[in-house]
Amino acid sequence: MMENHLRIHIDELCKERRNPQSAGYFKAQEYLKSALNSLGLNPLEHHFHVWGLGKCTNIYAESKPGSLKPTILIGAHYETLHCSGPGADDNASAVAVALEIARELFVKGQDFTICFFDMEENYRFTGLRGSKAFKRFYSRPIEKVLIMDLVGGSLAPHFDEIYLQFGDSLPKLAHPELDFLHLPMLVVEPMGSIGARSDYDVFRKAGLPFTFISSGTPWYYHTAFDTPKILNFKKMAGLTRTLSDALSNRSESKTKNDGSLDSFQKFLRTLRKTKVLEFELIEKLLNQNRLPSRIEMVKLYKHILPTIRKHGADLWKMRSRNI
Ligand SMILES: [Zn+2]
Repeated sequence: MMENHLRIHIDELCKERRNPQSAGYFKAQEYLKSALNSLGLNPLEHHFHVWGLGKCTNIYAESKPGSLKPTILIGAHYETLHCSGPGADDNASAVAVALEIARELFVKGQDFTICFFDMEENYRFTGLRGSKAFKRFYSRPIEKVLIMDLVGGSLAPHFDEIYLQFGDSLPKLAHPELDFLHLPMLVVEPMGSIGARSDYDVFRKAGLPFTFISSGTPWYYHTAFDTPKILNFKKMAGLTRTLSDALSNRSESKTKNDGSLDSFQKFLRTLRKTKVLEFELIEKLLNQNRLPSRIEMVKLYKHILPTIRKHGADLWKMRSRNI
C-alpha cells in the first residue's frame, strides 16, 4: 500500500523534468498541492524572487494551521536543475517519502509542517534559495527539522539496505531490514558548511536541531539515468515507516550524538566491498579505530565520488544482469 502511494507520487512527478519555470515544474507544483489536499492538508504557496528566473515557489502545509506551538518541519526540494533526467532520486524520492510521512503523522494528530522547497540546486553558483527564503518568512517556532535528499537509491552496490543519517534531532534510526548509519557531518561535508549538501544547512545555521537523511550521491546523480527505474520502493517504504515512528515519539527527541564510530566503520566496510575504491586508504581508516580527521575525510571523499561516478554504471549493469 505504502509502496503504491510512493510509486504514484514518483510517477506523477517524473513525467517531465522539473527545471524552474518549465512546464514540468508548474505541473509538479499542481501535483504537490493536490497530493497535500488529498491528505486533508491545506497547501499554501510561499513565493520568492530569484534574479534572472523570476517568481519561485515553496509549497507547504501545516497539520494544525494557525497553531503557535513549536512545530516539526519536514522538508525536501522538488525542483530539478542540473540533471538532464526527471530527478527521480534527486529529489522526487524524498518528496514522495515526505508526503507519506505526512499522511501517517496527520492520522496520528501530530503537529507538523511539511515544505517542498524550490531552488535547492545551484543556479548561478548559489543553492538552497527556497529553504533560505522559507526560513526568513516562516515565523512559527520550529522544534526540529528533517531534511531528505536522494533517498530512493544506493550510494554504490552493497548499499542497498543502507541509509546515511546525519545530525542529532532524532535518535539513531532502526528498522529490521534497513541499516541506518549515523555518521558525523564531516562524512557528508568534509569541507564544512561551505560544502553543505542540502537544505539542512539553512536550519543548522539558525541553530535548530536537524536530521539529514540520504541514501548517498550515486553514479547517476545529476544525469539522465536518474529515472524511476533506479528507485528502490521497498527501501523507501521502510524509510517512511521508520521516520514516521521516530517523529511520533517526541519524548526521545534529544540525543546529542553527531554520529558513531560503529556506523563509520560499517560505512567503510561496505565501501570496501565495492572493490573499486582505494583499498589502502579504507584499510588505514578502519585500523585507526576512531572517527576520521577532516583531512582524512577530505581524502576519502575526493576519492569516493569520482570513483563511484566512474565505475557506478558498470557495477550497476553487472548487478542488474545478475538479478
Ligand atoms: Zn537534491
